[in-house]
Amino acid sequence: MSPSLQALGYLAAAVLFILGLKRLNSPATARAGNRLSSIGMLLAIAITLVDRAVISYTVIAAGLVVGGALGLWMARSVKMTSMPQMVALLNGFGGAASLLVGGAELLRSHRLGQTMAVDAGVTVQLAVLIGAVTLTGSLVAFAKLQELMSGRPITFGGQKLVSGLIFLGIVGLAVYQVITPVPLLWTFYTVVGLSMVLGVMLVIPIGGADMPVVISLLNSYSGIAASMTGFVIGNTGLIISGALVGSSGIILSQIMCKAMNRSLANVLFGAFGATSGAAGGARSAEGLTVRTISVEDAAMQLAYARLVIVVPGYGLAVAQAQQQVRELAELIEKRGGDVRYAIHPVAGRMPGHMNVLLAEANVPYDKLYDMDDINPEFERADVALVIGANDVVNPAARTDPSSPIYGMPILNADHAKSVIVMKRGMSAGFAGIENDLFYYPQTSMLFGDAKQSLSGLISEVKQV
Ligand code: NDP
Repeated sequence: MSPSLQALGYLAAAVLFILGLKRLNSPATARAGNRLSSIGMLLAIAITLVDRAVISYTVIAAGLVVGGALGLWMARSVKMTSMPQMVALLNGFGGAASLLVGGAELLRSHRLGQTMAVDAGVTVQLAVLIGAVTLTGSLVAFAKLQELMSGRPITFGGQKLVSGLIFLGIVGLAVYQVITPVPLLWTFYTVVGLSMVLGVMLVIPIGGADMPVVISLLNSYSGIAASMTGFVIGNTGLIISGALVGSSGIILSQIMCKAMNRSLANVLFGAFGATSGAAGGARSAEGLTVRTISVEDAAMQLAYARLVIVVPGYGLAVAQAQQQVRELAELIEKRGGDVRYAIHPVAGRMPGHMNVLLAEANVPYDKLYDMDDINPEFERADVALVIGANDVVNPAARTDPSSPIYGMPILNADHAKSVIVMKRGMSAGFAGIENDLFYYPQTSMLFGDAKQSLSGLISEVKQV
C-alpha cells in the first residue's frame, strides 16, 4: 500500500473516532457513536495489516483468536458492578502493550548495535515509563476493587519522598539511555523495574472510593503511552487514537473530580477514606430513629403522586432492579403521574453507570435528567424515590463543613414533599459516612433488597 493511501486511511479512521466520540455525548446516540468508532478501528487495523512491515499473519491470527475469545468471554461474563475492575485490567493491558512495543524497539537497536536517534530514544523511554506505571498501577487498582487487597489507602512516612526519588532515578537513567548511542540493557531493565514500582507506589495510597477517578486517569496514561508507541513505530493511527484516549481520560477524570468537589491532587495525594468511620452508630446514640414504611403505604403514596422523581444509586445496580423500576414507573404513568429520573454524575461506581443501567431496561432517554436540570424540580415532587442511593443525596455535603463530602453537589431529594429511601439496612454508602436525610421528618425507609421491594410495590400499585 502506498504511504499516502495509508495516511489517508488513518485519517479516515481518526475522523470516525472523533465523530464516534462526539456521539457518545448523549445516551440516544451513544450506540451509534460506538459503532462508528469500531468501524474506524477496523479500518485502522486493516490498514496496519496490509502494511508490508507486518511479517507473520499466522501469529497475528492466533493473537486475534485468543485475544478476541478472551475479550468476548470477559465482556459477556462481567457484572455491571464489576465494570470498573475490568476497565482497570484493560488499561493495564494497554500499558503493557506499549511497554512491550517500546521495549522491543529498544532491544532491537541493542541487538543490532544500532544507534537510536534522540527523538526515537525519548519516545521509547516515555512509552516504557508510562506503559510500566500504567500496568502495575492498574493491577493495584484492580486488586483493590476486586477486594483482593484492602481498599483502604496504604500510607507510610516518607511515601511521597520515596516516590519522588524513584521518579528522579527513572528520569536520570532514561536521560542516560537516550544520550548513550547504542541502548544499554541494564538501564532498560532498571527503568522498567523502577517504573513498575512507581506504578504501585502511586496507587496504594489512594482509597477504594477514589479508584474510579484513578482508573480514568490510568486510562489516560495508557492512551499517552500508546501515542508514544505510535511515534516509536511511526504509526499515525496509533498516535491519533492514543492522543484521543489520553485527552478523553483526563477530561473524564476532571469531570469526576468536579462532581465530587475535589481536586485531582486531593484524589491522588489526599488518602481519602483513611479515617472515615463506620456509619449507623452515632445517630442512634443521639436517640434519633428512622421512620419505616410498609410496601403497601409506599405504593399508596406512589400511586397518587403527580410527580415522582426516582434517584437511582449504586444499590440499584447491585440489586439489578432496573427492569422493575421501569415497570413501576409505567404503572404510575398509566395512572396519570409523571416519573422522572435524577442522574447524579457520580451515582454508582463509574461515570454513566446509571444511564447505562436504565438504558438496559429501555427507560426512555428523555426521562433521564442531569443534576442541574432536575434539582429545581424536587420542590414540586410529591415523592423522591431514592433507590440504593446514599452519598449523592446526603445533605451533609451542603451543610457540614467537617464532612468528607462537604462541597460535593448533591441531588436535592430532601426538598421533595416526601422521601422514600429503599435500601437493605442502615449501612453507609461509598464515602462511609452517616446520612442525615434518613432521619428527616419527611423521610420514610423502605428496607429490603431493591429488587424485592420494587416487585412488592409493582403488585401493590396494580391493586390500588
Ligand atoms: P452509595 O455507595 O453512596 O450508596 C449505595 C447504597 O446502596 C448503600 O448505602 C447500600 O445500603 C445500598 N444498597 C446496596 N445494595 C443494595 C440492594 N441490593 N438493594 C437496595 N439497596 C442497596 O451510592 P451512590 O450511588 O449514592 O453514590 C456513589 C458513590 O460512589 C459516591 O460516594 C461517589 O463519590 C462514589 N464514586 C462514584 C464514581 C462514579 O464514577 N460513579 C467515581 C468515584 C466515586 P445498604 O447496604 O444498607 O443496602
